[in-house]
Amino acid sequence: MTDDRPNAPVPSLAKPLDESTIHALSSRVRGHLLRPEDDGYDEARTLFYGGFDRRPALIVRVKDPTEISHVIALARERGLELAVRSGGHSVAGHSSTDGGIVLDLSEMKDLELDVEGRTAWAQTGLTAGEYTTAAAAHGLATGFGDTGSVGIGGITLGGGVGYLVRKHGLTVDDLISAEIVTADGELLRVDAETHPDLFWAIRGGGGNFGVATRFQFRLHEVDEIVGGMLVLPATPEVLASFVAEAEAAPEELSAIANVMVAPPMPFVPTEVHGQLIVMAMLVYAGGDVETGERTIAPFRALAEPIVDMIKPMPYPEIYPPDEVDFHPTAVSRTMFIDTIDRDVSRSILEHLRASDAPMRVAQIRVLGGAMARVSAGATALAHRSSRLMVNLAAFYEGEEERAARETWVGNFAAALRQGDGGAYVGFLGEEGEERVREAYPQPTWDRLAEIKGRYDPTNLLRLNQNIPPVVEQ
Ligand SMILES: Cc1cc2nc3c(=O)[nH]c(=O)nc-3n(C[C@H](O)[C@H](O)[C@H](O)COP(=O)(O)OP(=O)(O)OC[C@H]3O[C@@H](n4cnc5c(N)ncnc54)[C@H](O)[C@@H]3O)c2cc1C
Repeated sequence: MTDDRPNAPVPSLAKPLDESTIHALSSRVRGHLLRPEDDGYDEARTLFYGGFDRRPALIVRVKDPTEISHVIALARERGLELAVRSGGHSVAGHSSTDGGIVLDLSEMKDLELDVEGRTAWAQTGLTAGEYTTAAAAHGLATGFGDTGSVGIGGITLGGGVGYLVRKHGLTVDDLISAEIVTADGELLRVDAETHPDLFWAIRGGGGNFGVATRFQFRLHEVDEIVGGMLVLPATPEVLASFVAEAEAAPEELSAIANVMVAPPMPFVPTEVHGQLIVMAMLVYAGGDVETGERTIAPFRALAEPIVDMIKPMPYPEIYPPDEVDFHPTAVSRTMFIDTIDRDVSRSILEHLRASDAPMRVAQIRVLGGAMARVSAGATALAHRSSRLMVNLAAFYEGEEERAARETWVGNFAAALRQGDGGAYVGFLGEEGEERVREAYPQPTWDRLAEIKGRYDPTNLLRLNQNIPPVVEQ
C-alpha cells in the first residue's frame, strides 16, 4: 500500500522495488516502465552530459499528472531517491539516480498555441527546439536558451537565459502560470494570484518545489531574425570591444561570445585551427532586416571576421541540429560579473592559453535590457542587475584528467570574480551547498527555504540544486 498522506515522512531506509509493486504501478500508468534488464534501459538512463553512469532501479515515462502522483507516492513509501527528468541536460547529472526512480517526462509533449491570444500551454517533456519550431510556424516565440535539445522543464525552472533575453527577458518573465504536482502528490495550478509564493519560487528555484507538468507562456512576435555565428580573432581589444558593443546595442540584439580554441570544423579556415577565437552568436530580433544588418555592422567591423555566417533566417534556425550521440564530459563554473575591459579580456585569454584541455571555453552572455527591468525580488532568480553571465568550462576525456581541469576552472573563476560572483542555477554542477547558496542572495534563499518547508518539508525532491526546507515547529 502506498502512503498518500500529505507530508508523510520519508523512511530512512530504502525498500527495494519488488515484482508486485512494479506490477501494481504498471497497472496505474500508461507510460513505459523500464528496469535494468529491459531493452532501451541504457538509452533511457543516458543524460546529455557523459560521466554520469547512474543505474536507476526504475524509469517511468509518465503520461499525465495522476501518473506523476503515483510515482511520487511510490518513491516516498519506499524511501527511494526520485530524479525528475525533462530534457536530461542537467549539468550536475541530477536527472538520473543510482538505485532510485527516474520520473521521465519526455513523453509529455502536448502544446496548445493560442495564436490570437499570444499564449501557449506546453507540457514539460517538450524541448526548447520543439516548442520554438511549433511557435515559429505562426511567427511567434518564447525565449529559451541557446540549445534546442534542452528541456523546457529544467530551463524554465532555472530562469532561462537565451537569445531573446535583452528584448523579452528571461524565460520565467514570460511564464504566466504553471501546473505543479507537489511532493504530497497534489496537482496545483499556480500563478500570480493562486499560490503566488510557489509561483515566485518556481521562477528560478529549480526543481525543489514540485514536478512541473505544464507551463503557460507568453508568446512574442519573432519571425525573421538577423543572426548566426560571427568568428573574430581573440585579442584583448576585440573581446573588450565586443562586450562594449553588445552592451550598447539596442535590446533587440542579444549576444553570446564563446572565447575558445578554434575547433577543426570545416567552416573554420585550417590556419586558424587551435588558435584562440571569439566565436560569437548574435540574434537581432527586431523584425526589420535592414536595421538588423545595421545593428550587427559594428561587430563585423571589430576585426576582419574569420567566419561570418550571419544572415536573415527564421528564428528556430539559430539552434544547431541536435547531436544525439554527443555526451561531453566537462567541468564548469558559472558566475555573474559586471565588467570585461581590456585587462579582464587579457586575463581571460591568458587562462585559456594556460590549459591543454582539448576544448576549453569562456562563454560570455551580455545581459541587461528587459531582464534588468524586472526587480530582483520579483522572481527567485534575483541576479537581475548583473551585466554579464560567464561560464567557464573545460572538457576532459578520462577520469584521470578531471582533477587538473577542476583546478584550472577553479583558478580561472577566482581570477575573474568581481563582487559577490553569484551563480546561475541552470549552469551549476555538483558543487556543494555553498555554491547553491551563491545562486541566491540571502533574502531570496531564506524565502525559498521557507516555501520549500511548506511544500516539501521532508525534502523528497532533493536530487536538484537543493534548498533544504526550513520547517516551522
Ligand atoms: C548544452 C547546454 C546548453 C545550455 N544552454 C542554456 C542556455 O542557453 N540558457 C540557460 O538558461 N540554460 C542553459 N543550459 C542549462 C539548462 O537550462 C539546465 O541544465 C536545465 O536544468 C536543463 O533542463 P532539462 O530539462 O534539459 O534537464 P533535466 O536534466 O531533465 O532536468 C534538470 C533538473 O531540473 C529539474 N526539472 C526538470 N524538469 C522538471 C520538471 N518538469 N519539474 C520539476 N523539476 C524539473 C530537476 O531537478 C532536474 O534534475 C544549458 C545546458 C546544456 C547542457
